Amino acid sequence: MPELPSLSERDHAVVWHPYTQMQTAPLAVPIVRGEGSWLLAEDGTRYLDGISSWWVNLHGHAHPHIAARVSEQLRTLEHVLFAGFTHPAAVELAEQLLEILPTNQARVFYSDNGSTAVEVALKMVLQYFHNLGQPERRTFLCFRDSYHGDTFGAMAVSSRGAFTQPFWPLLFDVEFIDVPVPGREAEVLAQLDAVLQRPDVAGFIFEPLVLGTAGMVMYSPEVLTEMLRRCHQRGVLCIADEVMTGFGRTGPLFASSLLQEQPDIMCFSKGLTGGTLAMGLTTCAAPIYDAFLSDDKMRALFHGHSYTANPVACAAALASLELTRTDDCTRQRQRIEAAHAAFRQEIEALPGIRQVRHRGTILAVEYDPGEGTSYFSRLRDAFYQMALDNHIVLRPLGNVVYLLPPYCTTSEELELLYAVLLRMRDVVLNFEPAPTLPEYLHD
Ligand SMILES: *Cc1c(COP(=O)(O)O)cnc(C)c1O
Repeated sequence: MPELPSLSERDHAVVWHPYTQMQTAPLAVPIVRGEGSWLLAEDGTRYLDGISSWWVNLHGHAHPHIAARVSEQLRTLEHVLFAGFTHPAAVELAEQLLEILPTNQARVFYSDNGSTAVEVALKMVLQYFHNLGQPERRTFLCFRDSYHGDTFGAMAVSSRGAFTQPFWPLLFDVEFIDVPVPGREAEVLAQLDAVLQRPDVAGFIFEPLVLGTAGMVMYSPEVLTEMLRRCHQRGVLCIADEVMTGFGRTGPLFASSLLQEQPDIMCFSKGLTGGTLAMGLTTCAAPIYDAFLSDDKMRALFHGHSYTANPVACAAALASLELTRTDDCTRQRQRIEAAHAAFRQEIEALPGIRQVRHRGTILAVEYDPGEGTSYFSRLRDAFYQMALDNHIVLRPLGNVVYLLPPYCTTSEELELLYAVLLRMRDVVLNFEPAPTLPEYLHD
């Protein structure tokens, strides 16, 4: 009898995966179950999820509390259009979020994912100035290495990197400044001042304290506070993209909680539903919302998605938020933070390490391979494979390998992650740089 194709082979025949060169990428790993910090493959192999499945999971996979609330909501009301109608889960979630967000946040606008949350924020800023009779004010300011999503507006305010190159001609112009990493604060504040001389700057969008895709690049709340102050002095609206940093990832509930100056607009997704369902939201301060109020219908925000405020996603978010707000969750995050800090001490001074960065539950190790390396390098692939061979899911960014574990990850599980980070030094110390890079361009 001919052997039946495996799930991975069937996948390969019909599916197109994100961020994947389908011709050269290995077959996708077939995962059939999730449990706590672990993913279980079809053949019984267990993988420790060191990056919360692309930064979305907070409390572990297939969490029974979230599952129960989602299931209950599905049997009660699965969806209703959100223009002209509302439902309890959407109202409750907005009420609860406004309780814990920076105090100036006054309204919640629902959408589907991180990119749409950013698109909505950009449109809020542009139409805010349009409604105020200042349509010429339409330039965005952002960090040179930022990532805000894959839709066109989000790409435009993100780094002009290799991933967006085919689309560059169609991306609107923005002003880029550098990230004020430790030691470069004064220089970047001067760059900011120079851009703020332009009368047409409308908004500053930033990943607060940690730039994820850039390689977990970190900067201080003090310098960001100062940047927001200077923007506000020039009437520039500030958008905190908390899609990755939200819901405890950096320690406090929001990275913006550590700022002395509040952002005007905030974007959320990823951890919002605890990593169970796709949902995004954009919140804003009262003056922005008020600028859309009028007898004139054309001043309304004409933006919406079919699944806006989906009740099942709202129920998942409420259930996840309930868990996030417990003392138990705070203690888990503190435990991970303390473990990261101790491990940092251990690995930082060893050969093969360029820099270790750490904030909250995020730890990033930047290895030192000698000559320049890029995301596409063999080094990244060697790291990825080494992790997988050790039953650990990581997605290195070039020579940066980071941990971003679910909050339920135990101390013993953290030790497994640290052990592989230590072992990755061998890859670096024995590394022969590739003669050419593009042939390794996969994934
Ligand atoms: C992931 C991410 C996005 C995009 O979110 P998607 O849900 O993947 O569209 C936007 N901003 C930041 C900071 C992110 O990390």
